Amino acid sequence: MSDIPKAYEPGKIEKKWYDFWLKQGYFTPKIDPNKKPFVIIMPLPNVTGELHMGHVCFLTPEDIMTRWHRMKGEPALWLPGIDHAGIAAQVVMEQQLAKEGIDRHQLGREKFQERMYQWAEECHKTITEQEQRVGSSCDWSRERFTLDEGPSRAVRTAFVRLYEKGLIYRGERIINWCPRCQTALSDLEVDHKDIAGHLYYVKYPLAENNGFITVATTRPETILGDTAVAVNPKDKRFKARLGRKVVLPAVKRVIPIIADEAVDPDFGTGAVKITPAHDPVDFEVAQRQGLTLVNILNPDVTMNENAGKYVGLDRFACRKAILADLEKDGLLLKVEPYIHSVGHCMRCQTIVEPIASKQWFVSVAPLAKPAIEAVTDGRITIIPSRFTKVYLNWMENIRDWCISRQLWWGHRIPVWYCHACGKLAVMVDEPSVCTHCGSKQTVQDPDVLDTWFSSALWTHSTLGWPDDTADLRYFYPGSVMETGYDILFFWVARMIMMGLEDTGEIPFHTVYLHGLLRDETGEKMSKLRRNVINPVEAISKYGVDALRFALTTGTSPGNDINLGKSKLESSRNFVNKLWNATRFILQSLNSEQLEAQVTEHPSRWVLGPQTIEDQWIDGQLNKLVKIVTELMEDFQFGEAAQQIYDFVWSKFCDWYIEIAKIRLRSQLTPSPLPFLANTLEVSLRLLHPFMPFVTEELWQSLKQHLPDKGQMPASIMIAPYPFADDKAFAPEAERVMDSAIEIIRSIRNVRAQYNVKPSKWIEAQVYTGELLSSLITQANIIETLAKVRPLTILGRQKREPTKDKALVLVLKETEVVLPLAGMMDRLAEEQRLVKESEEIKGRIAQLDARLRDNAFLSKAPSKVIEREKQKLAMLEDKLKRLLQELSQLNSSSADS
Ligand SMILES: [Zn+2]
Ligand SMILES: [Zn+2]
Repeated sequence: MSDIPKAYEPGKIEKKWYDFWLKQGYFTPKIDPNKKPFVIIMPLPNVTGELHMGHVCFLTPEDIMTRWHRMKGEPALWLPGIDHAGIAAQVVMEQQLAKEGIDRHQLGREKFQERMYQWAEECHKTITEQEQRVGSSCDWSRERFTLDEGPSRAVRTAFVRLYEKGLIYRGERIINWCPRCQTALSDLEVDHKDIAGHLYYVKYPLAENNGFITVATTRPETILGDTAVAVNPKDKRFKARLGRKVVLPAVKRVIPIIADEAVDPDFGTGAVKITPAHDPVDFEVAQRQGLTLVNILNPDVTMNENAGKYVGLDRFACRKAILADLEKDGLLLKVEPYIHSVGHCMRCQTIVEPIASKQWFVSVAPLAKPAIEAVTDGRITIIPSRFTKVYLNWMENIRDWCISRQLWWGHRIPVWYCHACGKLAVMVDEPSVCTHCGSKQTVQDPDVLDTWFSSALWTHSTLGWPDDTADLRYFYPGSVMETGYDILFFWVARMIMMGLEDTGEIPFHTVYLHGLLRDETGEKMSKLRRNVINPVEAISKYGVDALRFALTTGTSPGNDINLGKSKLESSRNFVNKLWNATRFILQSLNSEQLEAQVTEHPSRWVLGPQTIEDQWIDGQLNKLVKIVTELMEDFQFGEAAQQIYDFVWSKFCDWYIEIAKIRLRSQLTPSPLPFLANTLEVSLRLLHPFMPFVTEELWQSLKQHLPDKGQMPASIMIAPYPFADDKAFAPEAERVMDSAIEIIRSIRNVRAQYNVKPSKWIEAQVYTGELLSSLITQANIIETLAKVRPLTILGRQKREPTKDKALVLVLKETEVVLPLAGMMDRLAEEQRLVKESEEIKGRIAQLDARLRDNAFLSKAPSKVIEREKQKLAMLEDKLKRLLQELSQLNSSSADS
């Protein structure tokens, strides 16, 4: 009969089973109107290179959920996709081009796009291979790329619909401009960092007389774009100055002093410069006050013709030049060190400039309203719930979304301008002539859309929207949106808004947010810290199942995930434990015909005579199934995995299998084999969503031995997920086994404490009450596993005072008496105690000297001294106990 190799080699089985599943078509769900489907739309991995651990972090829980629901018999769709990743991808390509000594403008838009597509295809291949390598059971037949024709048409359709509703508009607003990427960015794409800069106090001469008004600024070059000085209307200090004019230093432009509520009287001098074209607050002031906008920057952030004599200078060179001139003219009053928040481009880390610019915007507030309601009325649940508040807070204060990007990689904005009549057309398909005047002189807007615009439609564009498809009708809305909490706003919030807007329905019921990956010590993983774990390396070293398990156990939704070598090793050890247990069971099954029947319960097929241990393991197994099911329903995958681990490792392997070995050796009836096989089979199915490969391999081997193999499915992947049988819980058997295990454990501890050789038998008496008759049935087991002989188990009333020196262990339902005499080699024990106490004495002397050393005491931090003192106290306590043991040993030897 089939036997499995001695050692588990993951590399040998992973590809085999993935290919098998793929060939069998298990990943592609069938539309069944009688069943409710389970749907996850995969978060989009970027086409920016290869798989990293962050991907495995989301692939693992998504695969766990999908496999679990599939085993529950639901049509389970996990739809994979790839994002063109707009600016992120374009930045990578531009860096590649720079290495070749060219830039994108030399290449031209068309050639540039060709290269992007080529490169995206390569990335796509790598990512797909790696997603498959970690066991992702997603439906490749439905895979989508954001730039595919379907999703692209969805993007244009959504744009046109929003435009026609007045929710997309083109307007001049302050946007974040990245001078390196040469594009506008949304607020979310800007990282704000505190920078140690300066606050410059500059004197603006009054136009009419010799006075001054002083303003403070962190960006003195923007003086060139000032169109007013503003003070708070309530600020009495400036009452006389209101309505007067000042002469702008450097450019000598005359600008008014105005009053505006937005001015904070406590900032700087209380008078502030207004630069409407380069500051979002000033922009709003200018709108209110009817001030003009003076843009002083070129797209590459050199100064433009509005900068007077500074034209052509880079923004920072201009800052220097202006400061020098102000100093020379005696207009620089003072300079203070100042820490302020400066925006950086998220993709290239260049300092962004706020610039007034004509861009396309989504008016988000009307879309946010229903998206807020969907969460507050409970149609959408966010897990963990603490992120609900974060979501609502952001949505309630949401600002218009700048969606145009001056990039070449992405969805071109579906707007055509007519040179002949000057009007524009917003259309899903390119018009052949101007819809207004019939002219052929139309040209499409050169900009592309923010990559998150297409991502926002992903839940429905992948299923065929705007068409009314069978997929859309059956699989929308989805079940769970699983993603990192870091893209809650970028993506999740926008999917909810656009899903509701486009389809009238929520896009998913549950948002499950996983944490970010950290190393064992809780540090963020980064190349700089050299603590990055490469998934491909980890897989070849530990196997996919161990990696997935390490990423799952000990995690809970929304909390960061710690991963390191020790966790990977312990997961691998667990896989090996499972492997070895199966191997033992398979070998035992080879020599014996399994006689078992299938019960009416499809999850259990064992019937027949049972011992207390059998009832116990079956009860524990069914309890486990119940707990795991509850945890899975509650998205507590980490805890579910931990529960299975604990059961398999200790209850099943350490106890039941060890007990079964005794029974098999002595060929007692009934045989434990049906329970060994059933417990293993159910455990494998429980574990399958977490460890797909090894469970399939072992299950296939086990299946050969099972009595009903003919009716069993072809793969564990489509076998039913176990469900608990409450009738199997067996509380009486649990009580007996808990007690037997406690007795064995306690005796083992004593043996270890007294250094009793493993081969040495020692005597034991167990006294108990109600459990007497059941514990007697476990005598053979206690005897063998605790290595006690002779063992007597008696009722408490039979207990007599012990004459010899003996240890009495007082346990939950029993007392165990271990006569000391036979237990140890007295001389060896004495020598051990003497040696250990001498060692401790030496360490005490050392520490004591240290704590008397004035040099140490004066230099060491109080924390260290405190620690050393604690150490000393601990050692002294240990010495005291060792000496007690020694004197006890001596007196007992004198007695006997
Ligand atoms: Zn940038
Ligand atoms: Zn026209």
